[in-house]
Amino acid sequence: MENKVPEYTLIRSKRKTVELSLNRGGEAVVRAPLRYPKYKIDIFVKSRAEWLGKNRRKLSERENFAAGFSEAEIQSAKSSAEKYLRERTAYIAEQMSVSPIAVKTSNAKTRWGSCSHDNRINLNWRLLLCPPEVCDYLIIHELSHITHKNHSAEFWARVAEFCPDCKSRRKWLKTNGSGLMNIER
Ligand SMILES: [Zn+2]
Repeated sequence: MENKVPEYTLIRSKRKTVELSLNRGGEAVVRAPLRYPKYKIDIFVKSRAEWLGKNRRKLSERENFAAGFSEAEIQSAKSSAEKYLRERTAYIAEQMSVSPIAVKTSNAKTRWGSCSHDNRINLNWRLLLCPPEVCDYLIIHELSHITHKNHSAEFWARVAEFCPDCKSRRKWLKTNGSGLMNIER
């Protein structure tokens, strides 16, 4: 085989298996046992070249989704978030026959929303950068916590009752969410 071994960072530790992953920057990282021969790692990485390429493309698509917003769009999302999320939550809460105590906009970088033990809802302003149906799913998710303070089967049944399409909306967030979370306020 003439093709080169893709570049990678090697991290050796007391482990039993060899693992290849991509870090956030799209660099290949190999984790290997302390004495595992280098030439074997090279063969392994070479054999995964196609996987690396495919997942790098996926990663950059995600980054691109977030990068597709102009500064004006981001500013507009920020400034309209509070009103939109409050009104939309009130509307959906009425359909679900629940009453949150308060609805606040958050700037958390790791979570889309939360519901406190006393039913205060927090929603991330970045939801306004998501498709409206994804934003609705998140609101339904948090409002369902008013009835179920966990992620039990009963909880998910309640979410699905008001959001039959919740699986694909969750998947959308999983794919595109991390890129959006990197947008600074
Ligand atoms: Zn939840």
